[in-house]
Amino acid sequence: MSADNKKIENVNKLLVKHFGIPPRNKELPDSVDMIIATILSQNTNDNNSYKAYQNLKKKYNSWYDLLKVRRTTIEKEIKVAGLGLQKSRAIKDFITNLYKEKKKISLDHIIDLENSAAISELTKFKGIGVKTASCVLLFAEGRNVCPVDTHVHRTVNRIGIVKASTPDKTFMKLNENFPPKIAHQFHTNLIRLGREICKPKNPSCGVCPLLKLCEFDEKNLSKKEKGNERSFMLLDSV
Ligand code: SF4
Repeated sequence: MSADNKKIENVNKLLVKHFGIPPRNKELPDSVDMIIATILSQNTNDNNSYKAYQNLKKKYNSWYDLLKVRRTTIEKEIKVAGLGLQKSRAIKDFITNLYKEKKKISLDHIIDLENSAAISELTKFKGIGVKTASCVLLFAEGRNVCPVDTHVHRTVNRIGIVKASTPDKTFMKLNENFPPKIAHQFHTNLIRLGREICKPKNPSCGVCPLLKLCEFDEKNLSKKEKGNERSFMLLDSV
């Protein structure tokens, strides 16, 4: 069953009322920049992945330079983001394979593809999953696509918007017929909800703006903890 669109719209209204409309880049960033930033963002906080991204941008004039650089050199530059071996390999493989296939380091060829075709095209590259591909579509191409990371997966399943066992399955159901124009605010505010209120353990349901419509059976009403201050969002800063 696909997602309940009425519920998506109601949740979005409540999140916007609580957190506001999240700011976003005035100019859309380059899609290759977005892939690299998203690879760096895996399993770390946005501050550290942003430092690693800036290290690469400062060190290399263009991503073409990475064709000649050893993987271990990239690993040193991105150390602050953790998982250096895995992330440097994913970056090196992506740049190398993109160049081999297109004879340039550019993702212009996906611009005219439908969302699902663009995702299939991007996920052909080793190390690029559905989440990374969908971040390119939302943040670099401005499409109305809602990427699903661990926070979005957890929250939309708890709320009852979809029922799916993995982030990729949640993504497919959520985006089958997503309501127009709200993907960026919905995605970004859900990440904020997941980081500050609807945490993996002991969610602070007592202060949650979605308490009345959330279908989660194990709500935690014992604490009235206030969430943290708004945290930095990497993918709106690339
Ligand atoms: S009510 Fe609780 S479980 Fe539901 S979204 Fe809010 S914090 Fe999460």
